[in-house]
Amino acid sequence: MKSYKGNPVSKGVEIGKVYKYVPYHASVGEELIEEAQVADELQKYGDAKEKALHELNRLKESMGKSDQDKAAILGAHIEILKDPAMDQQIGKFIKKKMYNAKYAIDASYKMFIGMLEKVQDDLIRERIADMKDVRNRTLRCLDGEPEKNLSTLSEPVIVIAKDLLPSDTASLNRKMVLGIITEVGGATSHTAIIARSYEIPAILGVKNAMELFVDGEEVIIDAIAGNVLTQIEEEIRQDYDKKSRIFKEQALDTKKYLHVEPVTKDGERIYVNLNIGSTSEEELEHAVVSDGVGLFRSEFLYMGRDKLPDEEEQYKIYTKVLEAFAGKTVILRTMDIGGDKKLDCMELPVEENPFLGKRALRLSFAYPDIFLTQLKAALRAAVNGDLWIMFPMVESMDDIRRAKQYVEQAKKELSDACVPYGSVKIGIMVEIPSIAVIAEQAAKEVDFASIGTNDLTQYTLAVDRMNPELGDFYQKYHPAVLKLIRNVIEQFNKAGKHVGVCGELGGDELGSVILMGFGLRQLSMGYASVAQIKKIITNITIEDTKGIADNVCAMSTSAEIEAYVTGELKAKGL
Ligand code: PEP
Ligand code: MG
Repeated sequence: MKSYKGNPVSKGVEIGKVYKYVPYHASVGEELIEEAQVADELQKYGDAKEKALHELNRLKESMGKSDQDKAAILGAHIEILKDPAMDQQIGKFIKKKMYNAKYAIDASYKMFIGMLEKVQDDLIRERIADMKDVRNRTLRCLDGEPEKNLSTLSEPVIVIAKDLLPSDTASLNRKMVLGIITEVGGATSHTAIIARSYEIPAILGVKNAMELFVDGEEVIIDAIAGNVLTQIEEEIRQDYDKKSRIFKEQALDTKKYLHVEPVTKDGERIYVNLNIGSTSEEELEHAVVSDGVGLFRSEFLYMGRDKLPDEEEQYKIYTKVLEAFAGKTVILRTMDIGGDKKLDCMELPVEENPFLGKRALRLSFAYPDIFLTQLKAALRAAVNGDLWIMFPMVESMDDIRRAKQYVEQAKKELSDACVPYGSVKIGIMVEIPSIAVIAEQAAKEVDFASIGTNDLTQYTLAVDRMNPELGDFYQKYHPAVLKLIRNVIEQFNKAGKHVGVCGELGGDELGSVILMGFGLRQLSMGYASVAQIKKIITNITIEDTKGIADNVCAMSTSAEIEAYVTGELKAKGL
């Protein structure tokens, strides 16, 4: 048996086959052929097309009735592949221009895509993404590369990747992914957040993982201890089977708390909100166990697509969320693009330090049309429920005032066009230390704040939250971070303004206790943490949490705090 260490970011134990995920990238250059090669190149294209068609038919069949939307998209892809106009064009490029098959396919698809890009019809423009997909599939088949895609896995696997992009994790088929192992990514990276919300065991930061494991080999992912095991003896396998079963039983037991009302033993109602990052049915069904949405990461709307979402599309999506959470508050965070979140539909500025660059609100200021479109959609949707608008990456009072001016402008544009809109609360994420320090002033300027502990920790400690090499430096209970958090909670409470926490600390067992002790009453977290946090809330008193928080404030290291609060919870049987 061999064992490799990593950072366990989403708990669980599973045994399964390795699936190494390397997204295919076609590399195409202009290559000309001789007359004598024409027949061969035509044949190559024909074979690639047949192979692509076979893949699509198989996939479509496997989707069947279970996912009719995806099956319909695959049907459209088959139509594109069979389109005689495309065949003709590719043939012409090979025979007349003497392009090789690869270049001819690429050039033909690009030509058709270019034509569609000029059409001002949204439905037709949506075909562009489909065409790009079919182009990629055909080129991959021509290269003889197997399909690698996390949304179309056909058997349960443990995914191993260098890194996963937010678009990879957002589209992965959660029933088929038993575990996730990556070479990069820290505990608050987006891969970690998604893995936790899908309840998929994940270990990030396993050095050279792509070289260590072989496709198809059996491994154990122990995302409690942070070990990946290979070459497993039968005895070990049985031990881990048992460990996996026990973990699942305990998780099931904790799940009993999912539906309880989160009231402390001394009668204080704590509001448990959800962080959501999509509007899938599964995600919206979770509404029943929560008091609302504490963080709606709206950026997913912009990612993995070829054109920006327009006002109408956004209006419909925000309304859908408000309807799913009927009668509850939904906090919509305006787009947080930049940092590690890139866009396919737009070239963003290349920067030396993207996390310190034009990210989130700064990007919205740089592209006012995109910002105003989002604000108008949100204001219109607010007619249908209790929508609050929140700005990410706020650094100064200037940022707050400037962002509020955009809201006023959006309202004016709607009024001028006689379009109805609802009233909204305006708030900020406190995730840059500067704004945490001047929380007293900020509280006067906004209706609410939500503390983004993931970035607040990153920026306070100057530690890249994505870099697993820095795991030891990313100290989530660092006294300096806790001091900033306490200041924000106290200042907002004093001003009578709402304050919550939507960073990972809100759904953290120890963190939630410290935060309640600081006076926080609104926690927002991924669905996977809800049961555990409700269990803690209902088994503790506010007096207990205050005592714990006071003691924590007298401590000087993260490790000391972690050991102390762990001990306190253990003593209470938690
Ligand atoms: C945070 O920074 O704590 C946060 C909630 O935002 P995100 O993780 O999306 O950056
Ligand atoms: Mg953040």
